[in-house]
Amino acid sequence: MGIIDTHSHVTCERLVGRIDEIVANAKAHNIEKILIVCCSESEARLAIQAAEKYDIFDCAFGYHPENVDEINEHDFEVLEEILADPHMVALGEIGLDYYWVSDNKEKQKELFIRQIQLANQLQLPILVHMRDATQDTIEILKQNPCIGIMHCYSGSAETSKILLKMGFYLSFAGPLTFKNAKDAPEVCRQAPIDRIFVETDAPYLTPHPFRGKENEPAYVHLTFEKVCEIKEIDSQILMDQMKENYRRLFTKSNL
Ligand SMILES: [Zn+2]
Repeated sequence: MGIIDTHSHVTCERLVGRIDEIVANAKAHNIEKILIVCCSESEARLAIQAAEKYDIFDCAFGYHPENVDEINEHDFEVLEEILADPHMVALGEIGLDYYWVSDNKEKQKELFIRQIQLANQLQLPILVHMRDATQDTIEILKQNPCIGIMHCYSGSAETSKILLKMGFYLSFAGPLTFKNAKDAPEVCRQAPIDRIFVETDAPYLTPHPFRGKENEPAYVHLTFEKVCEIKEIDSQILMDQMKENYRRLFTKSNL
């Protein structure tokens, strides 16, 4: 009985040495499930090991648009092999990011589409990263129907309605708790409870009042409480609903 962190880079370099402590802290804050999101083969193999040791973990693996220039055919074989592991419940994070680099849009789109196709073939949901690329992302999702989560959703309320209509779930992260949060509180207020999640995106985006410190799954309770406050909903009801959402979407999970 607890809260779920649907997006956490627990096996990234900054956190991997602290896994035992991260699990203990999470349990102390009533966190029941943590989805480890992996961006490389080494992160994914470490995540499977962690999931074998701790029931609290599920895993996801996919190639982030930021790494598009390094991905080759061999990486796709590795991706498919690793996703066959029973602890792997989703493909991601994948998507488009035109914030840092925008001179490789076509390559990013190609990588995104190919991974959506693989997810559909393996019957896995996807975790979508979308930054400064709303139009192209929606276009691709429309042309390649699939299901999954818009991770750390920070777009407009208008765009959120389009995504919800397409069957996507929205996940809110630390920025929802920031004093200068822009559209997120309104998006959260409007979104139906059977289509939302919370996440940390640890080690990034630490929620208020720990903003600036290294983030970890235990802190997801702060974002969860913010959602309860915005939606004026009882925390137990929302907790149960998010668990049901998780089971529905991640059918391979042991939650
Ligand atoms: Zn992430």
